[in-house]
Amino acid sequence: MIDAFSYAGSPAQIIFGRGSKSKLAECITNAGCKRALVLSTPHQRADAEALARDIGPLACGVFAGAVMHTPVDVTEAAMKIVVDTKADCVVALGGGSTTGLGKAIAYRTDLLQIVVPTTYAGSEVTPILGQTEGGRKTTVRDARILPEIVIYDPALTHGLPVSMSVTSGLNAMAHALEGLYARDRNPVSTLMAIEGLRAFSSSLPKIVAAPDNADARNEALYGAWLCGTVLGAVGMALHHKICHTLGGSFDTPHAETHAVMLPHTAAFNAKAAEAELAPAAKLFAGSIGGGLWDFAKSIGAPMSLKEFGLSEADLDRAASIAVENPYWNPRPIDRDSIRALLQEAWDGRRPAD
Ligand code: NAD
Repeated sequence: MIDAFSYAGSPAQIIFGRGSKSKLAECITNAGCKRALVLSTPHQRADAEALARDIGPLACGVFAGAVMHTPVDVTEAAMKIVVDTKADCVVALGGGSTTGLGKAIAYRTDLLQIVVPTTYAGSEVTPILGQTEGGRKTTVRDARILPEIVIYDPALTHGLPVSMSVTSGLNAMAHALEGLYARDRNPVSTLMAIEGLRAFSSSLPKIVAAPDNADARNEALYGAWLCGTVLGAVGMALHHKICHTLGGSFDTPHAETHAVMLPHTAAFNAKAAEAELAPAAKLFAGSIGGGLWDFAKSIGAPMSLKEFGLSEADLDRAASIAVENPYWNPRPIDRDSIRALLQEAWDGRRPAD
């Protein structure tokens, strides 16, 4: 049954395809820009410098200082380079951390952003920025934050190690899964979520078997675009809240935390959102929690929170923080059930739907 809905299409331009990195110079000039500051993490500096060489005089510099969770002091250091080099646009080459830095610059300056993603995190298609200052992570949503152009070149993901491909893919799948039961979902977000989950359920096992499988890398990056777009379009619930709590208060690794938690949060909501999750359950042998757990295990994902050094006492505190501020979830939340959910994920037990 089609119910009432509201739909707003993303204004971003998406360029997808093997070799599409070569369209960067054209994108910059078509947008009326002349001085691009290329951003990356320290780890991807050489790739950022090569990209800057590719666009020749259109590059005004490289800032390779992006780190996880977009600390404000790093943004301030990058802002100094933006001013010194008179940059009129930023090009973020990398995963969610580098994209986050580009977004933080655009939030302060409204400079044009072009993102060239190299992971499956999906941040490049959302108007959401998480920044940290003084150990606190805050999230802002603003039209200036949404990157104007995304160049998805699957060739750039071949170097993404298999373990990161798996966790990054599961991170993206979590956006789609929660999008399926979002209160503000619409027919387009639902179509994108189902297709995104299908793309990863098909491609991740192939990437694990052969990391250079070009078709599988194409399909996974296509899935990343779909799942990220769902995250940017509709509201998230329990899963993202718990991962935010674990990452923010216990410094657990971002994509890995999503990977461990996803089967457990999906099982928690399975009955309350049975109809909405049915197309996803079909992809995982009819069982959304247990099926996803089997899938994650089969592709070598981390399976338990204890692998990240969390103690059982931390779970008590995490459960309290996760229910501190009420938020919507298809199944009502209380501290005891969240504590039990965390215990199951900490132990690494297969959830029952
Ligand atoms: P990341 O960007 O932190 O990358 C992890 C490491 O992998 C980095 O050292 C990076 O340089 C390296 N790397 C990236 N691509 C590579 C490749 N192809 N080959 C080899 N190494 C590569 O990881 P991530 O998971 O993409 O991003 C996580 C961050 O993104 C978190 O801070 C998270 O909060 C944020 N995020 C934000 C949103 C949003 O909408 N605001 C959505 C998803 C994630």
